[in-house]
Formats: sequence, C-alpha cells, structure tokens
Amino acid sequence: MKLFAQKEAEEFRRSGAVEFRHNRDIRLTPGARDILSEAGIKVVFDAEASAPAAAAPSVAATDDQKLFHSPEAERLKKEICDIGRRIWTREYCDGNGGNISVRLGPDRFLVTPTGVSKGFMTPEMMSLVDIKGTQLAGKWRRSSEFTTHAAIYETTPDAVSVCHAHPVHAGAFAIKELQPPARLIPELEVFVGTVAVAGYQTPGSPEIAASIRPLAPKHQSIIMGCHGVICWGKSIEDAYFKMEITDAYCRTIILAQALPGAASIPCEKLDDLLAIKKKMGLPDNRFELKNAELCEVDPWAQMCGQHGCSSPVTPFHPMPAPETGADMETLVQKLTDEILANLNK
Ligand SMILES: [Zn+2]
Repeated sequence: MKLFAQKEAEEFRRSGAVEFRHNRDIRLTPGARDILSEAGIKVVFDAEASAPAAAAPSVAATDDQKLFHSPEAERLKKEICDIGRRIWTREYCDGNGGNISVRLGPDRFLVTPTGVSKGFMTPEMMSLVDIKGTQLAGKWRRSSEFTTHAAIYETTPDAVSVCHAHPVHAGAFAIKELQPPARLIPELEVFVGTVAVAGYQTPGSPEIAASIRPLAPKHQSIIMGCHGVICWGKSIEDAYFKMEITDAYCRTIILAQALPGAASIPCEKLDDLLAIKKKMGLPDNRFELKNAELCEVDPWAQMCGQHGCSSPVTPFHPMPAPETGADMETLVQKLTDEILANLNK
C-alpha cells in the first residue's frame, strides 16, 4: 500500500487538478485529505483507479511556481496586503469581506484568500489562479468571489486589478439598488465616471458574474445590489482609489440630503471635465453623448425619481445679494428698536 501524505497532497494541489481519485492501494492521511479539501479538490474513491499520476508536478506546474515566487509576484503580493490594510482601516470591510486580485500574466492572476480579514493578510496567503479560478499555486484557498473578478478581466482588457469591498455609504445605495446620480463632484466625474448598479445575485455565483460582465467595459465602479461595490483599475491602487472615491461620493450625497438646496455641476461645465478625462486616457461611457443627453436629468430629481424620496428635495434658492452698508445700518437700527420696544412692554 502506498501512503499519500501532506507532501504528496501539496504537489497534487499545485498540479491544478480538481479531482483526486484513489483506490484501495493508496492510503490518504487525514492531513493530506485536509489539504485537498481546502483547495476545493474533490476526493473520489474509485476501486478501478490507478495510482494518482498527477502526484508528480508537471512542467506547467513548475512554471507556475516560478511565476508565483517571481520578484514581480512578490512585489504585487505586498501591495495587495497594503491595500487590504487601507480597506480595513477605512472600514470598507467587516469580518472577512472583500477581495483583491491583479493580473500577473496572460491567464494568470494573484488573488486574496477566503476567510481572512483584509486588514491582516500576509504575502504567503495569496494564491495564483487562472481565469477559471483554478488554483495553481499558494497554500491558502482563493476567494470564492474571484469568478466575479474574472467576469471583469474577460470583458475588459484594460482592467489590471479588481477590488471588491463592502463600504458602508455605497452599501446604503446597494441595499436600495439606487444609482448615485452624476454631476455632483468633479472627482467622481473624472476618475470614476458613472457608477453602475447590478441587481442582487448570490455572492460567488455564476449569476453575479453574468450581471457584472456587460457593465464592466463601460463602468469602473459597480454597485452590486444588496451586497457591495466592485471596482477595476490599471493597478491595484487605482482599483482601490475607485472604491474610495465611490464611497466618499455616496457619503456626501447621503449627508447632503439632510440639507436644503439642490445645486449640481452646470451642464456646460461637464464637457470640461470629460475633456480632461479624455486627455488622461480614462474610459467613460459618456464620451459619445451630446451635451443635452448628458444633462437630461437633474441629479437630485434622479435620486427621487428612482425610488421616491422620504422628504421632498428642496429647490435650490440662490443666496440673496449682500446688503449694502447703508441698508445694513437701517436694518440693525430697526431690529434694535423692535427689541427695545418689546423689553419696555
Ligand atoms: Zn462581497
């Protein structure tokens, strides 16, 4: 009888196989069984099976190991950990929520582990996967939400990194499946563009990936209904910046709703922002639109129009022109007279 222990299980996992078949002649140790099950490899008992051939690492598996430990991969793993700390520090993720990935080569990606707080990751926790999410290297099981990242990489060649989190303010829009209106803050217009909303689907399911796929090429920030936000960028930090800007934007809107007034970026000035964006080589689904189409809806009316408003939006009233010196003196005198008259009553 042949013993299949942890060392053999590690080698088998690196081969990228998804199923382990063994027969009566192979004894699987409990430690080896754990490694296989953590890697999502199905263990099948098959009396007819021959000894597992994949126990010896293939040439491709060795190449993946080299890539996984290359200086570039090590640099990116550290950067993912740094961004994870920023995500956690800014309270964009609670518990083990959120995940980050980055392209490392054609059909090779580094991805964060499942079941770990994004604030306390170390480079060894990262794994190497292909576009299908097959784990090719790394001891920690990859995030189950990588398949949603893959939907972005498949449809958007410009996407180098994907960042997913559950920030509270954008999350408030998510649980109402409400699209943040445009034309309120230049930062969002230039660096993010319109934020899309995808309807709720089960996290990690093929349905959620399908809901993101058509939106990704034209939107760098997508609110996932009753879930969170997913952003892509040209680097790990860039993807994270989209997340920060989206959440700050949503937070400002929520705060502003408690205040009177309803200003927005004037329509004719939006062209200036889009021109800046074009110059910077950033994508935007509004480049083809005419000015009138860009400003069809008032942002505050749009907020109410989607799901109704708990309190109606007050129309914007410009501040009255300041009083001149002489008028002000008369006014102060009149008020003083009134106060004195009341006191004397
Ligand atoms: Zn999530």
